Amino acid sequence: MATDLMLRAPLDGWAAPLAEVPDPVFAEAMLGDGLAIDPTGSVLHAPCAAVVVTIHAARHAVTLRAAGGLELLLHIGLETVALNGEGFEAHVVDGQKVEAGDRLISFDLELLAGRAKSLISPVVITNLGDYAIAERMSDRLVAVGEPLLRLAHVAAAPIEEAASPALEITRRIIVPLPHGLHARPAARVADCARGFRAESAVTRAGRRASTRSPVALMSLGLQKDDEATLSASGPDAEAALSALAALIEGGMGESAAPEPVMAPPKPAAAPTKAGVLAGVTAAPGLAIGRAVHLTQQEIAVAEDGQGAAQEETALAAALAQVGGEIGEILKREADPVRRDIHAAHLALLKDPELADEARRRIGEGRSAGFAWRAAIGGFAEALGALADRRMAERVADLRDLERRVLTVLAGGDADGPEIPAGAILLADEILPSQLMAIAPNRLAGLCTAGGGPTSHVAILAAAMGLPAVVAVGAGLAAVGDGATLILDADAGTLQAAPDAAALEAAQRKLAARADRQAAARAAAGQPSRLADGAPLPVLANLGSLAEAQAAVGAGAEGSGLLRTEFLFLDRETPPDEDEQAERYQAIADALEGRPLVIRLLDIGGDKAAPYLPMATEENPALGVRGVRLALRRPTLLRSQLRAILRVSGRCSLMIPMVSRLDEVRAVRAALDEARRDLGVTGRLDLGVMIETPAAAVIADQIAAEVDFLSIGTNDLTQYALAMDRGNPELAAEVDGLEPAVLRLISQTCEGGRRHALGTSVCGALAGDLAAIPILIGLGVGRLSMATAAIPEAKALIRTLSPNACRALATQALEQTSAAAVRALCEPFRTGGG
Ligand code: PEP
Ligand code: MG
Repeated sequence: MATDLMLRAPLDGWAAPLAEVPDPVFAEAMLGDGLAIDPTGSVLHAPCAAVVVTIHAARHAVTLRAAGGLELLLHIGLETVALNGEGFEAHVVDGQKVEAGDRLISFDLELLAGRAKSLISPVVITNLGDYAIAERMSDRLVAVGEPLLRLAHVAAAPIEEAASPALEITRRIIVPLPHGLHARPAARVADCARGFRAESAVTRAGRRASTRSPVALMSLGLQKDDEATLSASGPDAEAALSALAALIEGGMGESAAPEPVMAPPKPAAAPTKAGVLAGVTAAPGLAIGRAVHLTQQEIAVAEDGQGAAQEETALAAALAQVGGEIGEILKREADPVRRDIHAAHLALLKDPELADEARRRIGEGRSAGFAWRAAIGGFAEALGALADRRMAERVADLRDLERRVLTVLAGGDADGPEIPAGAILLADEILPSQLMAIAPNRLAGLCTAGGGPTSHVAILAAAMGLPAVVAVGAGLAAVGDGATLILDADAGTLQAAPDAAALEAAQRKLAARADRQAAARAAAGQPSRLADGAPLPVLANLGSLAEAQAAVGAGAEGSGLLRTEFLFLDRETPPDEDEQAERYQAIADALEGRPLVIRLLDIGGDKAAPYLPMATEENPALGVRGVRLALRRPTLLRSQLRAILRVSGRCSLMIPMVSRLDEVRAVRAALDEARRDLGVTGRLDLGVMIETPAAAVIADQIAAEVDFLSIGTNDLTQYALAMDRGNPELAAEVDGLEPAVLRLISQTCEGGRRHALGTSVCGALAGDLAAIPILIGLGVGRLSMATAAIPEAKALIRTLSPNACRALATQALEQTSAAAVRALCEPFRTGGG
């Protein structure tokens, strides 16, 4: 009869939980469960009777197979593969039988101490076979041969499992995520599923994906509002099903695309001149530079493997190395955009279905490289075929991982390409890790034949301030290396070999732009005034304390919008009153006496909070969001009002998503009650966001009962035009300069004026240089915008005369399209107004 199995310490040293290994591949048990030993001895011994499957070529790791299908990986130190065998001596060969305690590998402890990333040595069970871990002896000193892990034989199903229904339970879900089940939420679902023993899956239109596989989940192509079936079977199926459903239906804190600093990217006009290629703006700007083609060297891989065990070990080691590298970068990376991309890559690398698929092909006799490439290829094809561009653009991330793992397998290094400074990089496609490997400021611009404006490369380029045009097509290949180029990313064009006049014009534009930006930054600390000296305050939109600190440095004169929901996204429970008060106070303090408008939680629609799971709505943008939610959750509202009342400083309070006067009155009543309870007598201005057409139309009635109005042009535009602000297909059309939206803004300002109230704008239009003169002309008295837009907005405002703005606004209201309005504004943007 099969019995339990004791794994004995293979090394002298300190036994620690695997989670303490400073490498996520081991710490997050990507390769399997186990323990780690920080060695004091220098000989690795067999932990049980087994057969040596492989001694790694670098002799730093060994895989063993024991009774009952148990498989083990013993790995000496971290990143020791790089020593290429130096300091290691193997005492066994592949296929050799060993007994517990037999010597496997000796190593030079001193050499490793100086050269390895860490000495800590994982003991990983890569396949439990017929066993389950019953006991771990960790957090203690162990000597070779002492008990380390007790494995219970569980080949006969444990009683609980045998008694549990094999039956599958199912539940229908509707995906509320604004961008569908893309990489980040898919990774969270997989994480959640791994916490249960139940097998669970998501099925859509007859296609089924394991919840443990982010790539399989993504390849279902589930988009916002799509319906799918969640299923689970096994011992804790019900708990797994509820947790997964709550996670997905809760929206996972996903919000729509961040507020753009300037106008959203637009598809380019068709090329007008020979030598001009037209594409799509990925990141705005203008650049002149020499062409440098980035050609991807194909990494050759042999189709046939040299034995399944060897290939599997090689793949596991390569995955571990790439995972470790990404983990290391993640630890150091402070930039949130880059962190997100690295984290998405790590989640894809951990995808069990990718690894399973590669292992399956290795089992058919393929090499590790061939199998990995084929596995990636299958998933890339499935994602590429999806109609959702955001999903299809994740293919580049898969290709990136393909390349990195193959590079490691081929024994090469993954250094970034050598690029001369000031070059305009041309490529069929550039991979996110390649762009991240190039120092910011080294490139003048980037242009790709393929790609799309929502790819990670586009997001990176925008964050680097690098002008970028994508999707210019096959014509890019004909551009000669070294040719002079003008990349006009604002217009989405690339001009090769421009004539002297075109070059001179672009140089003048570039120099003027650089001068303007430098001057704007230098003067950003001055108070914002119009040309006649009248104040026109410029404030910042905030979502965190760090943003508040940055805003002050960039010349913000306060904050006209604190999006409180962003302060509390990464958590499972709502913040209590004390925590809220503390966070708001910290932001008020960072503003050093400047005004702060705190908006009540605006959850729902495109903004979800994990701690407020909401019922599925047919149309969440028109559902229970903003003030509607607050009034349905009086406890939540009360604690937020009390927290805001406790803040000392120049604070005011703003209500989001108002469409009726009774909503304002209800919040006022709750505020008065909170004020009485706390005994607060000081002044707290109450304002209303005007972001529904209804609120704009009754702005005069609202103005009669509040202290200020602030126009949220993002939502006002979406609701006025009936166009989803998060739909990338409509991004170029959801334009707040549409005359219909301008008329609503005008009506709001008029409503405010009747009751002597100031009206602000805090949507993205406030930071759009084309819109600023019109908004001022319509009567807007304060602008609150993304911090990055502040210096140039202030510089522009200094040149504007109120009379010219009024004349411009009157004309703009009579135009018949946003394009016509933008054309009217052009002389003002360039200082000619
Ligand atoms: C708006 O709608 O314009 C606004 C500022 O609010 P948010 O973007 O947070 O919805
Ligand atoms: Mg809004």
